Amino acid sequence: LKNDLLDQWDRDHFFHPSTHLAQHARGESPNRIITGGKGVHIEDRDGNRLLDAFAGLYCVNVGYGRTEIAEAIAAQAKELAYYHAYVGHGTEASVTLAKMVLERAPKHMSKVYFGLGGSDANETNVKLVWYYNNILGRPEKKKIISRWRGYHGSGLVTGSLTGLKLFHDKFDLPLDRILHTEAPYYFRRPDLAMSEADFVAHCVAALEAMIDREGADTIAAFIGEPVLGTGGIVPPPAGYWAAIQAVLDRHDILLIADEVVTGFGRLGSMFGSDHYGMTPDIITIAKGLTSAYAPLSGSIFSAKVWAVLERGTDENGPIGHGWTYSAHPIGAAAGVANLKLIDSLSLVKNAGETGAYLNAAMKSALGEHARVGDVRGEGMLCAVEFVEDRETRRFFDPARKIGPAVAAALLKRGVIARAMPQGDILGFAPPLCLTRAEVDEVVGKTADAVAEVLG
Ligand code: PLP
Repeated sequence: LKNDLLDQWDRDHFFHPSTHLAQHARGESPNRIITGGKGVHIEDRDGNRLLDAFAGLYCVNVGYGRTEIAEAIAAQAKELAYYHAYVGHGTEASVTLAKMVLERAPKHMSKVYFGLGGSDANETNVKLVWYYNNILGRPEKKKIISRWRGYHGSGLVTGSLTGLKLFHDKFDLPLDRILHTEAPYYFRRPDLAMSEADFVAHCVAALEAMIDREGADTIAAFIGEPVLGTGGIVPPPAGYWAAIQAVLDRHDILLIADEVVTGFGRLGSMFGSDHYGMTPDIITIAKGLTSAYAPLSGSIFSAKVWAVLERGTDENGPIGHGWTYSAHPIGAAAGVANLKLIDSLSLVKNAGETGAYLNAAMKSALGEHARVGDVRGEGMLCAVEFVEDRETRRFFDPARKIGPAVAAALLKRGVIARAMPQGDILGFAPPLCLTRAEVDEVVGKTADAVAEVLG
């Protein structure tokens, strides 16, 4: 097909997610048809080769073009492309993947339910938390606490859990039963004089106040990403998770760790829960589970939650929950091959080591820039936050779109980073196989792009 014909079809027919629809239809934003990928690079139809420092949407953890995964998918498709997983059915791939996930998850976890994407996995989590409390005879204990700037998906419940304005406004969200508390965002602390410890105490006090106000007997669970992702790539201040977990334990509130981004190595640990010493009752996984070679997500339940779910079915019959594509064999085959590759290439270790190198290099290149307020990250996650004034932390007028302008200047230099949706934040979440030489390229070009836009 000719490029201009494809471009026309795209503008005429394709509803792109997370896109300014009107501008796109009018041809004011570019189309980019991606045709291939190898390692950390993708190629487009116009012959551009780009270093993808965001791994798609933080998901192509093993990098592009891994034939081991492609072959596993092809073999599964030839042998059996589909059978459902209801009433005890499975495939060798789905059963094997469940075992592999549990071998890697924190020890107290017990069972994994497979879905398709992170949004539906969190939908499963909330639904089963409600079921859990009904089985325990606590029908009032149903509210879920999330955080401002959390990202947990864009469905009705999960879009409600997400704590970003763009995902609520004009959609009549959040729904009832979903509450938002403080984000552990030290850079944007309410008072510059606060130490990290003071700020943790502030977040804990806000949570305690919410629990007091609502009543602990109305609150079922707290959901959080170990490191806030789409809300700005924000690692928590030291001691945050231990302090939050203590409050939740005291009030018998379940902890859901949304590890869609952090699961399977991104922080340099297999799970973010291990990395921060969290003991979640439920863990959400997606993205890195298959490195996005096929859609697959999962909800991992602790032994404590599982025991209640089992009891529920003894009392009420089979669980009223399941998707046609739960544990889809092609996704499961991709997952098995992907987890093997993460091990054989030591990608968790590389994420820790090369990720530390990336964060140190970015700090040294941009940490003192007059328009950079913060350079932060953990493992293979890194963010640069721009401010108009470093001393007062005065932010740029959002209308100036500084984040997108820097991302565009970087793209022009052949590197993809992401202008995060709220605030002037440039995010990096590269494939876990990134090398030091590639880090040097990313950081050097980022510094050039920042210089072009901000001097
Ligand atoms: N949870 C987190 C932490 C995410 O980052 C995302 C997606 O970016 C989701 C959930 C939703 O996943 P999906 O887009 O696969 O529905």
